[in-house]
Amino acid sequence: MKSPLIIANWKMKVSGDEALTLARQAVKATAKYKSAEIVLCPGFTELAGVASAIKGSSLKLGAQDCFWEESGAFTGEISPQALFSYGASYVIIGHSERREHLAETGAMIRKKIFTAFRVGLVPVLCIGESFSQRQEGQKEVALIQELHQALDGLWLTEAQRLVVAYEPVWVIGSGQAVSGDEAEHTHQVIKQTLYDLFPASVVQEQLRIIYGGSVDPENVAQFTIQPTVDGVLVGGASLDATVFTALVAAAVKAGC
Ligand code: PEP
Repeated sequence: MKSPLIIANWKMKVSGDEALTLARQAVKATAKYKSAEIVLCPGFTELAGVASAIKGSSLKLGAQDCFWEESGAFTGEISPQALFSYGASYVIIGHSERREHLAETGAMIRKKIFTAFRVGLVPVLCIGESFSQRQEGQKEVALIQELHQALDGLWLTEAQRLVVAYEPVWVIGSGQAVSGDEAEHTHQVIKQTLYDLFPASVVQEQLRIIYGGSVDPENVAQFTIQPTVDGVLVGGASLDATVFTALVAAAVKAGC
């Protein structure tokens, strides 16, 4: 049984003392679920505080984005190198909210992935189809295209790890997740594409595919029991320590 990877994306919703309190509560409440790998992704300004709040625990730190250069004249951008030195080990890249509101393109996302690897971060590449793509039968095409845009030509060393998060865009924040069966079917398409891009040993040992989109304590097990679902990316349900802990407990119970 694999240990579920559970990534909490706090988005721009938790700040200051609230972030510290939530991190401390998460440390305490999830301590007994040792078999889960739990990553908290606060906003940039909360990284240092959350890093110290989770110090000594098994929880890990992640960021919600990074720039594609390590340093330079890029006003307002965040260096992946700086994230790493703050203690982040993961970075979410290509979230649909950034693709939509900040016009992030496949080319930008690809550069971010490569730079994240260079500095030692594990990228969490988000891909997902829109509602209209799904209605038009273009779901798989859209996902395969996003994977190629981000990953073509990428070689992983033995030490490097990559996470692909499948997040149907129309499901995020809706309270209506897709079914476990649909997630599994889609993950199989993603996995097959990853086999086209990487050696089989890399896909089997170094890549994980997680599901995101309205995951909650009640539905998480239907995802984590699926053979190709290695964990979940959680937005809304990660903002309350009690709800998040119930989700972690259910994911661990169901296994991966
Ligand atoms: C997300 O934004 O990555 C996400 C999964 O959000 P939610 O769980 O709220 O749908």
